[in-house]
Amino acid sequence: MQRADPQDFARVLSSMCTIPHPEARAAAQRFLATNPGDPGTYETVAALEEEAIEMLGRIAGLSDAAGYVASGGTEANIQAVRIARNRARNRDGSTDPNVVVPESAHFSFTKAADVLGVELRRAPLTDYRTDVDAMAELTDEQTVLVVAVAGTTEYGRVDPIPEIAALAKAHDALCHVDAAWGGFVLPFTDYDWNFEHAPIDTMTIDPHKMGQAVVPAGGLLARSSELLDPLAIDTPYLESTGQVTLTGTRSGAGVASAVAAMEALWPDGYRTAARTAQDNAEWLTAALTERGYDVVSPVLPLVAADIPRATIEKLRDHNWRVSKTGAGELRIVMMPHVTREILRSFLDDLDRLD
Ligand SMILES: *Cc1c(COP(=O)(O)O)cnc(C)c1O
Repeated sequence: MQRADPQDFARVLSSMCTIPHPEARAAAQRFLATNPGDPGTYETVAALEEEAIEMLGRIAGLSDAAGYVASGGTEANIQAVRIARNRARNRDGSTDPNVVVPESAHFSFTKAADVLGVELRRAPLTDYRTDVDAMAELTDEQTVLVVAVAGTTEYGRVDPIPEIAALAKAHDALCHVDAAWGGFVLPFTDYDWNFEHAPIDTMTIDPHKMGQAVVPAGGLLARSSELLDPLAIDTPYLESTGQVTLTGTRSGAGVASAVAAMEALWPDGYRTAARTAQDNAEWLTAALTERGYDVVSPVLPLVAADIPRATIEKLRDHNWRVSKTGAGELRIVMMPHVTREILRSFLDDLDRLD
């Protein structure tokens, strides 16, 4: 096979993945040939997965966390919807379930609704966050799950999570927080987002984004192991008796790298990364504003700026990996590999090309 090299990260500005921490990379390599989907055979990696969940729980304000290392935020979100749907079905025979999400919810919820046959109701936003009153209007007796986002994919916004959790409780629905991207940044902010701050039931928090683990390493957390029961199916020919994951065979590399990254970085390394990213977001916002562009002010390290479409195309032609929001803004995610030096070089090109 001809050797192909992956892209380098010097001009990658819109990805939510990054260069893995060296310890995470090494751990992934060591555990490449393991399958935590078969814990009876691959005992070491199964034990590591318990450690991963314990550490993720600590980050998310939850002792005795239940959950597992998923293939990513998509799987974790699908599973959160599945838990809620099955719980309602088992409890009172719910046949017409709906899930209420903010309009800013990640598109993985569209997949979840499609696969699981639940109705998705999207609540409008005010200033990029969920309007809780509008959400309340969409919530009814058939609502099995109410979702809040802690760090939206497009603008890095945090929904009013305690209010949304209270709304879910009032309807006897579950509450899920999607912190796939924000989960490793929010511990260093004043936001109410985690299991300690509100009676939420499940959470998506991905080591393979700001956690600096290798792909694939997503995280699904649940407040108690009973919440995972509605996912369990029998596994006749494995040594273990049941399985709650969506995938069967899965990556031990992701599990081991998640543990290695969190051991290396929690909390000081993540705090430093979060601060640097936030400084860079604010610095870039100031630099773009000075140049006359409209910028959606960043609350987490993610910048969206109104840059002409033609300029974005030219930047792409110069190998900048940039994406647009649904509204057409240029979106820059301050992942750990996005340094001040890279941002300066980006601005130089922007000045030349616009
Ligand atoms: C990235 C992201 C997801 C999806 O995660 P994948 O790992 O890409 O499957 C879900 N929710 C949010 C908020 C995200 O930012």
